[in-house]
Amino acid sequence: MTKVRCEIDAVEIENDNGYLVDGVCATCPICGHEEESFGTGGKSVLRCLVLLRENCPNNQHNFYTEAGDSQ
Ligand SMILES: [Zn+2]
Repeated sequence: MTKVRCEIDAVEIENDNGYLVDGVCATCPICGHEEESFGTGGKSVLRCLVLLRENCPNNQHNFYTEAGDSQ
Protein backbone atom coordinates (compact mmCIF):
# COMPACT_ATOMS: atom_id res chain seq x y z
CA MET A 1 0.00 0.00 0.00
CA THR A 2 1.36 3.33 -1.02
CA LYS A 3 0.99 6.26 1.31
CA VAL A 4 0.25 9.46 -0.54
CA ARG A 5 0.67 12.86 1.03
CA CYS A 6 -1.97 15.31 -0.16
CA GLU A 7 -1.85 19.05 -0.10
CA ILE A 8 -4.88 20.45 1.67
CA ASP A 9 -5.99 23.86 0.48
CA ALA A 10 -8.55 26.20 1.99
CA VAL A 11 -11.14 26.98 -0.67
CA GLU A 12 -14.57 28.51 -1.04
CA ILE A 13 -17.23 26.11 -2.29
CA GLU A 14 -20.62 27.03 -3.71
CA ASN A 15 -23.36 25.26 -1.80
CA ASP A 16 -26.77 24.16 -3.05
CA ASN A 17 -28.17 27.63 -2.44
CA GLY A 18 -25.48 29.34 -4.50
CA TYR A 19 -23.60 30.78 -1.54
CA LEU A 20 -19.86 30.51 -1.15
CA VAL A 21 -18.88 28.79 2.08
CA ASP A 22 -15.51 27.85 3.54
CA GLY A 23 -14.24 24.42 2.69
CA VAL A 24 -11.13 22.41 2.04
CA CYS A 25 -9.76 20.81 -1.09
CA ALA A 26 -7.46 17.79 -1.20
CA THR A 27 -5.47 17.17 -4.36
CA CYS A 28 -4.01 13.80 -5.32
CA PRO A 29 -0.34 14.63 -6.08
CA ILE A 30 -0.05 11.70 -8.48
CA CYS A 31 -2.97 12.17 -10.84
CA GLY A 32 -4.26 15.61 -9.83
CA HIS A 33 -7.74 14.44 -8.88
CA GLU A 34 -9.39 16.86 -6.46
CA GLU A 35 -12.06 16.43 -3.85
CA GLU A 36 -13.74 19.21 -1.91
CA SER A 37 -15.56 19.19 1.39
CA PHE A 38 -17.52 21.81 3.28
CA GLY A 39 -16.00 23.08 6.51
CA THR A 40 -12.41 23.65 7.54
CA GLY A 41 -11.95 21.36 10.54
CA GLY A 42 -10.09 18.11 10.82
CA LYS A 43 -13.24 16.17 9.99
CA SER A 44 -13.56 18.01 6.70
CA VAL A 45 -9.96 17.25 5.81
CA LEU A 46 -10.50 13.61 6.69
CA ARG A 47 -13.62 13.50 4.55
CA CYS A 48 -11.65 14.87 1.59
CA LEU A 49 -9.04 12.17 2.03
CA VAL A 50 -11.71 9.47 2.17
CA LEU A 51 -13.35 10.87 -0.97
CA LEU A 52 -9.99 10.85 -2.75
CA ARG A 53 -9.48 7.25 -1.77
CA GLU A 54 -12.91 6.33 -3.13
CA ASN A 55 -12.86 8.46 -6.26
CA CYS A 56 -9.28 8.78 -7.42
CA PRO A 57 -9.18 7.40 -10.96
CA ASN A 58 -5.92 5.63 -10.19
CA ASN A 59 -6.61 3.32 -7.28
CA GLN A 60 -2.98 2.20 -7.12
CA HIS A 61 -2.33 4.87 -4.53
CA ASN A 62 -5.14 4.35 -2.11
CA PHE A 63 -3.94 5.51 1.28
CA TYR A 64 -3.96 9.25 1.72
CA THR A 65 -2.56 11.37 4.47
CA GLU A 66 -2.41 15.09 4.97
CA ALA A 67 0.87 16.70 3.92
CA GLY A 68 2.66 17.90 7.01
CA ASP A 69 1.36 14.96 9.02
CA SER A 70 4.24 13.87 11.23
CA GLN A 71 3.79 10.18 10.35
ZN1 LIG B 1 -4.70 9.89 -7.84
